[in-house]
Amino acid sequence: MLIGAHVSTGGGLQTAVERGAAVGADAIQIFHPSPRARRPTNYGPADFAAFNEAFAASPVRSTVIHAVYLINTTSPDEVIREKSLSSLLHAVRLGDAIDADGVVLHAGSRKQEPLDEAVARSGEVVREVLAETESCPILFENTAGTQGPLGRDFDELQMLIEATGGGGRIGVCIDCCHLFASGFDIVEPDGLATVVDDLDRIVGLDRLRCLHVNDSAVPAGANRDKHANVGAGEMGPGGIATFLSEPRFEDLPAVLETPGPEKRGPDPAEVQRARELREQGLAARS
Ligand SMILES: [Zn+2]
Ligand SMILES: [Zn+2]
Repeated sequence: MLIGAHVSTGGGLQTAVERGAAVGADAIQIFHPSPRARRPTNYGPADFAAFNEAFAASPVRSTVIHAVYLINTTSPDEVIREKSLSSLLHAVRLGDAIDADGVVLHAGSRKQEPLDEAVARSGEVVREVLAETESCPILFENTAGTQGPLGRDFDELQMLIEATGGGGRIGVCIDCCHLFASGFDIVEPDGLATVVDDLDRIVGLDRLRCLHVNDSAVPAGANRDKHANVGAGEMGPGGIATFLSEPRFEDLPAVLETPGPEKRGPDPAEVQRARELREQGLAARS
C-alpha cells in the first residue's frame, strides 16, 4: 500500500512532489488548475518536464489528480456542462502529461433531475473527454450518501461507469470517510470484508484504483462529508486500522485528505500515524 497525501502545487507543479516527499508520502494527490487560469498555473511542457524529473528522483511512486469541485458532469445546463467538460479535459490532459494513475472525479449533483437522465449526461461528458485524451484513467469517487450527488453507493457508481461505455480507463476511488458517513459498516474487519465483497460484485475490484483515507468528523450514517484527521474522528484508530489493513487494498495508493494539525493538510506525523495504524490493523488480523 502506498500511503499518500493530498498536497498543494503552490509555487509550481513540481513542488507537489517535494511536499509529498517532505511529509513522507509514497503517493500524492493534487488539484489541477482551472482551465481559465493564466500562467503560471496553466502548465506547459516545461512544467511537465520539471514534475516528471522531480517525481523520478523522489520516493513518491504514484500521483493522482483530484478534479476541481466546480465540475458537474450531470448538469442539464449548457454553460455548466461546457465548463465541466473543459475542466475535466484539462485535468485528464494533465494526467496524460505527468503519467498520473487517475483523475478522481465527483460526478456531480443531479439536484432534482431524474437519476437515469443525469447519469446519461455524465456518461456523455466523460466519453467526450476520453475520446480527446490518451491514457489517464478517470476514477469516480463515492460520495457521503446524501441524495443528489451521484455515487452514493456502489449501484450508482456502476451506473456512472456503464454510462461511459465501461472501458478500461474508467475506475473508482473509494473514500472511507464517505463510506462511513453513508452508513456502510467498515470499522471492523468482517463488516469491511462484506462491503468489499459488494464492491467486487457490483463494480469489480479491477476498477478500484485509489483509496481516500480520512477519518469522519460526523457519526456513521450522518450523510455529511466532513473529514477529520486519521484516528481523531468517529471512525477512530481502530476503524482506520481496519480500513488500511484490508488485504484487497494492498496494492493501492491510499491518500490522506485530512485537515492536518494546522489545517494545511497532513503533516509527517499524520502520515506516519497512518502507517502505524496499518501495521496495527495487520497485526490484529494475523
Ligand atoms: Zn473527493
Ligand atoms: Zn475523498
